[in-house]
This record gives sequence, C-alpha cells and structure tokens, in this order.
Amino acid sequence: HELEQLYVHESVENVIPPEAFVEAFDDLPIPAELVGDGREYGPTNAVATYVPQPEYLDAGWVHCIRAGYDEFDTDEYEREGVPLTNSSGIHGSTVSEVALNCMLSLARLGHRYRDHQNEREWWEPPYERPFTLENEQVCVVGLGTIGEATAARCDALGMEVVGVRRSDEPVPGVSEIFDPDRLHEAIEDARFVVLTVPHTPATDDMLSDAEFEAMREDAYVINVARGPVVDEDALVEALEADEIAGAGLDVFETEPLPKESPLWGFDDVIVFPHKGSATNRYHLDIAELVAENVERYQSGEALKNRVA
Ligand code: NAD
Repeated sequence: HELEQLYVHESVENVIPPEAFVEAFDDLPIPAELVGDGREYGPTNAVATYVPQPEYLDAGWVHCIRAGYDEFDTDEYEREGVPLTNSSGIHGSTVSEVALNCMLSLARLGHRYRDHQNEREWWEPPYERPFTLENEQVCVVGLGTIGEATAARCDALGMEVVGVRRSDEPVPGVSEIFDPDRLHEAIEDARFVVLTVPHTPATDDMLSDAEFEAMREDAYVINVARGPVVDEDALVEALEADEIAGAGLDVFETEPLPKESPLWGFDDVIVFPHKGSATNRYHLDIAELVAENVERYQSGEALKNRVA
C-alpha cells in the first residue's frame, strides 16, 4: 500500500502548535489533516501523534512525535505489523542546552540570584559556593543523541567527561566509558550526573538510595531523560540528608509536578516544566523527519527511527 493521507492527531498540541505543524507539510505529496479521537484508520493512512490510541493499530504507519515512546506498547505494534517510529535524533541541541543551563546555573548561581532579584536583594553567596564547570567531572549516562550532544558541550567547556553506555565504542569528548553494570564507579567521582537514557525496565529507578550514597556530597543530578529513571522519593531524601548537593530536573514521575512535591522547595533544585525540547522551531524539526519518512515509505525504503 502507498500512503494516501497523513493524519496529525490533536494531541501534538502538548508540545507544538498543531496548525503550524500541519502547514509544515504543505509541500508533501500527500495531504495532511488535523484529527481528533474516534477516527478509523486504514493501511493507506499515516498518523503523527503525541499519545498512543488503540485505533492507530489499523493504520499503515504511526509516528510518535516524541523521542521517548515509552507510553506506546511496541509489542502490540509488532504483533499487528504496524511500523512505529519516534523522533529521536532531533533533540541533541535543544535538550542538551537545558542540561547545560542547569549545570551552569548550579555552578554559578544564576537561579539563586534570580530568587533574590525577586526580592530586589543584592545577595552575596558564601565564598566557597560558586565554582567553574571547567575541570569538573561530569558523567553522562546514556550516550545517544542527547547524551553525545551534552558530552560535546561539556568537553568544550573544559570539563572532564565520562559516560555510561552499553557498547564501549568511543564517543568524541568522552575520556572513559563505563558499562551500565559499573554505574557506581562511573558516578562516584562526578560533580554532575546527567541522565540522557530512555525510560525502560533497565533504567527504571536507575538512580536510587545506593546511587545517591555512592555519589559525592557536592554532586548534582541533572535529569533531562524521564522522571521514573530517578527514584524521586530517594532523591528527596538524599537532598534532605545532604547526601548530594542539588539537582536540575526537566522531568518528573508525575507531570505537572504536584504542588505538594518537596522538590519545589530546595534552593539548589532547578525545576524545568518538561521544556527540554521546547523551542520555536520544534514543529519544523519534527515535520522534516516525518516528511523524510513519508518519502521513504512511498519508495519502499526502511523508515528512519523505526522502534517497532
Ligand atoms: P537516543 O535513542 O538517541 O539515545 C538513547 C541512548 O541511551 C542510546 O544510545 C541507548 O543505547 C542508550 N541506553 C539505553 N538504555 C541504556 C542503559 N540501560 N544504559 C546506558 N545507556 C542506555 O535518544 P535521545 O534522543 O538521546 O533521547 C533519550 C531520551 O531522552 C528519550 O528516550 C526521552 O525519554 C528523553 N527525552 C527527553 C526530552 C525532554 O524534553 N526532556 C526530550 C527528548 C527526549
């Protein structure tokens, strides 16, 4: 079957303006149309979506506009023979800049000065507190698109970069690579532990009590991956017990982060409202990827970023 129609499910509005996204397909050889729930799909339809829906299993191809497709049941897609693709490969600069933003702030206190600015206060931090990222060690856990981009940027700032990945293939800017089995060794000397892994059974609660204990007391956790990769209760306890110094968090076990979460209250925890990929051209980056896959689909080539 050739594709005759690209549907864009309205759930894309979670992260991009749906109309602008549909417009970005103006040059596509097939029409693109915005749709809601309860529609029927067939083998000549492709659908680009943020959320999974059972009816997509009748479509010819489904694209999850997110990099993290953990909400999709990949087994089901494989059983039904419906190709599922995701948007990994386009978040390198956007998400790594959020990680770097948190690291620079935690080192040089931009977040604290802003807190005091809100009170029109010329605040002097303790002399010992600010430090440079240069010469500090960072451990990047998961060296895919975002991890590699983070490592390259940390390297450019003169940091000592180590990483955790399942293959020991070298990565530019990373001086040492640890197997996931050696996570504690990888993180124990790091001033920053940056999480850039997908959420899978293997990465669920990857940082918990034992890991926070293994980390330095002046270390910071940066999570731009997925909330459940960190055991949030253990993180709060580690922060309260001063087992680690702080955190930069873009993702949480429950989003939006509930008002009663203790994470809001720490001076050295920076809360981003899951905005790692939020820039004004995100819809264009996703559309470019989808358009390339439409072309591949029509010519019978393997789809880019196929995850099921
Ligand atoms: P990617 O697929 O390019 O990279 C993921 C890397 O993690 C791969 O190299 C993979 O081999 C590695 N990995 C998987 N399991 C591992 C394990 N147990 N130990 C060590 N490494 C492991 O994906 P990406 O585009 O870099 O995105 C990574 C994740 O970041 C996504 O899955 C998503 O959950 C999250 N993400 C967050 C935002 C945000 O807004 N904060 C945006 C995009 C993606």
